[in-house]
Amino acid sequence: MAEIELRQLRKSYGAFEAIPPIDLKIGDGEFCIFVGPSGCGKSTLLRTIAGLEDASAGEIMIGGEEVSQRHPGERGAAMVFQNYALYPHMTVRQNMGYALKIAKRPKDEIRTTVERAAHTLGLEDLLERKPSELSGGQRQRVAIGRAIVRDPKVFLFDEPLSNLDAELRTRMRLELADLHRTLGVTMVYVTHDQVEAMTLADRIVVLRSGRIEQVGSPLELYDNPDNLFVARFIGSPSMNFLKAEAADGEICLSEIQGPPLPRPEFVPSDWRGLLGVRPEHFELRAGGMEIRLRAVEHLGGVTYGYATLPGGTELCVDLQGHREMAAGDTVALGIPSERAFFFDQKTEKRLR
Ligand code: ATP
Repeated sequence: MAEIELRQLRKSYGAFEAIPPIDLKIGDGEFCIFVGPSGCGKSTLLRTIAGLEDASAGEIMIGGEEVSQRHPGERGAAMVFQNYALYPHMTVRQNMGYALKIAKRPKDEIRTTVERAAHTLGLEDLLERKPSELSGGQRQRVAIGRAIVRDPKVFLFDEPLSNLDAELRTRMRLELADLHRTLGVTMVYVTHDQVEAMTLADRIVVLRSGRIEQVGSPLELYDNPDNLFVARFIGSPSMNFLKAEAADGEICLSEIQGPPLPRPEFVPSDWRGLLGVRPEHFELRAGGMEIRLRAVEHLGGVTYGYATLPGGTELCVDLQGHREMAAGDTVALGIPSERAFFFDQKTEKRLR
């Protein structure tokens, strides 16, 4: 078990600074997830912690020891990759025991350790198979098993579920949550899957161009995003953003007709910016702003309506349950002001 601490950690590729100096503490036993748009540096940060990339500057503490100059195998961290990276010619047993064999552990110990890990992961019956004889989910479990046998202080996962189909991904997600509970070790995980981040993480780190935008529990980020970037990134479907301004003590929407909202005290009287509304926070309310639905998605328990406002702004509205609505229908929407978010136009920070 171990805490991870990054101190002024920086990573450049030549003149390109992928990770400007960052500081981050990941608690002992925490499940910490890095998210952010493609190219924001999630994998680079994870690989630098693992030692697969050399840090350009700064310190990496794992379990209280500075490891940035150590070989990847000597950091107490085990990495699980998206493509599993299994040896095709070896059986599951050999794949899982390989690191111990290289470390010249006694045969009996290797057998016991591999079998214990296989039991944890439900792989007992597959130990003599080759990777080509396994399903995607089974291969992923072997890859995790290979990490478990090394008894690492921390697990590092780089999009481990992204090659699996939707159903399997859901199952493996639950298995990973169980595994984290069972092992109680620190896990750092990279994904661009919203659901994985929201359901697995104790804490989410939102990255943008290598910088940390916000760190918090999934619901902290969902309920209290610091800025437009985090608000846009966390939540699926995404938050809606409507151009709005304060006038005469009220908030008026610029792109659509509708009753104004009361202006909360923290919003300046000359405010102009973006009003953020999550799809599920709109109310279907007679006399509200009227929008014409361009498309309707019926997912069974939830129904989403999509509309394009005259200014081009796209809206997604949760139509609240199982609704017999169709493209072309008009709905009247209200925005409960206590659930709306107010963002400054220039700084993109959230007012509160
Ligand atoms: P994705 O979600 O697409 O996997 P990511 O957030 O994991 O993206 P990284 O792979 O960490 O992003 O890349 C961060 C930035 O560093 C990108 O701009 C990328 O082009 C750059 N980069 C990554 N590896 C190298 C390299 N070996 N040489 C130069 N630039 C690199």
